[in-house]
Amino acid sequence: MSAVFNVEEIFAKNVFTLGKMKERLPKNVYQEVVKVMNEGGELSKAAANVVAKEMKDWAVENGATHYTHWFQPLTGITAEKHDAFVAHPDEEGRMLTEFSGKELIKGEPDASSFPSGGLRATFEARGYTAWDITSPAFLKESGCGMTLCIPTAFCSYTGEALDKKTPLLRSMQALSEQALRIVRLFGDKEATKVTASVGAEQEYFLVDKDLYMQRTDLMFAGRTLFGAPAPKGQEMEDHYFGVIRERVGAYMKDLNEELWKLGVTAKTQHNEVAPAQHELAPIYETANIAVDHNQLVMEAMKRVAIRHGMRCLLHEKPYAGVNGSGKHDNWSITTDSGVNLLDPGDTPNANIQFLLVLACIMKAVDTHADLLRQSASDVGNDHRLGANEAPPAIISIFLGEQLEDVVNQLIETGEATSVKEGGRLRTGVKTLPDFKKDATDRNRTSPFAFTGNKFEFRMVGSADSIASPNTTLNAIVAEAFCEAADRLEKADDLELAIHDLIKEYMSEHQRIIFNGNGYAPEWVEEAERRGLPNIKSMIEAASTLTTDKAVKLFEKFRIFTKVELESREEIIYETYAKTINIEALAMIDMAGKQIIPAVVKYSKNLADTVIAVKEAGADASMQQDLLKRVSTRLAAMQAALTRLKQAEEEASAITDAREQAFFYKNTVKSAMEELRTPADELEMIVDKEIWPIPTYGELMYEI
Ligand code: ADP
Ligand code: MG
Repeated sequence: MSAVFNVEEIFAKNVFTLGKMKERLPKNVYQEVVKVMNEGGELSKAAANVVAKEMKDWAVENGATHYTHWFQPLTGITAEKHDAFVAHPDEEGRMLTEFSGKELIKGEPDASSFPSGGLRATFEARGYTAWDITSPAFLKESGCGMTLCIPTAFCSYTGEALDKKTPLLRSMQALSEQALRIVRLFGDKEATKVTASVGAEQEYFLVDKDLYMQRTDLMFAGRTLFGAPAPKGQEMEDHYFGVIRERVGAYMKDLNEELWKLGVTAKTQHNEVAPAQHELAPIYETANIAVDHNQLVMEAMKRVAIRHGMRCLLHEKPYAGVNGSGKHDNWSITTDSGVNLLDPGDTPNANIQFLLVLACIMKAVDTHADLLRQSASDVGNDHRLGANEAPPAIISIFLGEQLEDVVNQLIETGEATSVKEGGRLRTGVKTLPDFKKDATDRNRTSPFAFTGNKFEFRMVGSADSIASPNTTLNAIVAEAFCEAADRLEKADDLELAIHDLIKEYMSEHQRIIFNGNGYAPEWVEEAERRGLPNIKSMIEAASTLTTDKAVKLFEKFRIFTKVELESREEIIYETYAKTINIEALAMIDMAGKQIIPAVVKYSKNLADTVIAVKEAGADASMQQDLLKRVSTRLAAMQAALTRLKQAEEEASAITDAREQAFFYKNTVKSAMEELRTPADELEMIVDKEIWPIPTYGELMYEI
């Protein structure tokens, strides 16, 4: 048991918060920091030096020995290279720690091995990191001791983004500028900034460490590549919101403590649908901080699991046949004067603003459904999206019954004269009600659902960074706001123009609204009739990044250049090929070194038994039949193993990244499935004592 702790005392203990800066910095420097945080720009050299010194002193007082520019390369996780605070000792051999403004603001990790999709030839491989002043520095406790982590963007020397943070920050800027134009139309003169807020609900699995260590697939691929279903899966629905087991509870307690110290507002925890599956949700915050914090959540989940003799699986589909893990990305946009643009508000004026924003979002999501789907793709998520699991790969918007009814009225008559409330219809209403999410009609199958005052983007994978989904959301909505503002700012009769625009956008993009069951096969057909894209895999989605439509969007708001988009597409193919290659190799290893030898042994035992039983003069037909069933599957496995090895060889000979990725998807993956099927059947037949790897039952229930 760890010591009793008080949330108020430990919260943000390891963060160099604004409060700490206010205490430690001279007033003028502090004001400069706040100004740059809010308005952008750069700190003066003098101010940067003062901030760096205070930050270092605070870090050292708290036990830090090193600092790092913490960044988010295109691997989807974070990267750090530690530098000690040590400097040259003085003449008497005394160490005076050092950290300058220059070191704070800019770093040059020789990080040439990160994916760049051809953006950096190795001779100019160095990228540089630049401090993101809007995300606070923090201390990370690990095996290395205490390290001061400075959130940074990572760019090439020629200025191209090599990370996930840079485009996100650019998209937030674009959204802010365009959203301000919208609120100005409605008479808001005070707001100076509009911020995207994000709350990411993180799902994960826990597994016992000793069992995990016996599974090559979990260790190398993060998911099981073999495994017959356990006698009990999730059909009883007894795990969802069930009592949290002791060991898991102790883990959650430790995890919360760790996250609170890092300033992460871990709020909700519960058991999820599948056995051994859980969820943690923080309170929402500014998008780029939420993105950083989600990375910290994922890291802490893994680290704390190790301390508790477990491993945390963030993979989207660790086990076939039970629910996978995702990450609901809750997103809203708020002015610095405190108005949430996704809140219907209390007055007719606020209502109209809300409906205009809604119309713009309908337009954005419909126009760029392909990009949004792409933003939520990673290798593991292919097992969820479009694979008969939640949510479907088709993007649609869920509005709920009341709001959909309002939209329908607007489309039909241009007016909304009634609202449905709990079944009753109130006619002639002047203001819209709060569209509070109502437990009975919340549609869990929708990939993009309106839930009262935010949208919940439910497609994101559990292991993925939430940077891309939010960059895309911000960008597409900024574009729709921009087009609306371009028109409305020129209107003679603003009220009429807004009215027409809402009606027009909603009519044109009504096809994106779908309130039905997103898992039903009929929806796939219906969506096709509506012309909505249904992109089934990560690599099929990759080319949506470089369509003319996408390039125009991202270049217009300076979020990505065409070259940056092309490089990202390239990286997707590379990542996919590498990941499937690892999975295939892990399978080859397990099949050849563990499963086949065990089954050979088992069939020898069986054969011996057959002979012995026969010699004893009894009927051995049952044993013989069993032997036959085992032998057939063993032969099938051996043949599939040979085919998989062959496919692997062919794959490695392909030089074009896109072609290679598709070969992995179409040929290697199906060879993997062919190998898995007889193996899983054998698992159901072969003596438990002989089966060489822990079963699904053990992995999911022995926690
Ligand atoms: P669920 O029922 O799906 O768990 P919750 O209402 O509990 O949904 O909220 C889930 C997440 O949404 C939390 O992280 C919460 O902080 C976040 N959230 C709530 N309001 C907003 C908002 N206005 N903008 C962004 N995220 C929000
Ligand atoms: Mg949710």
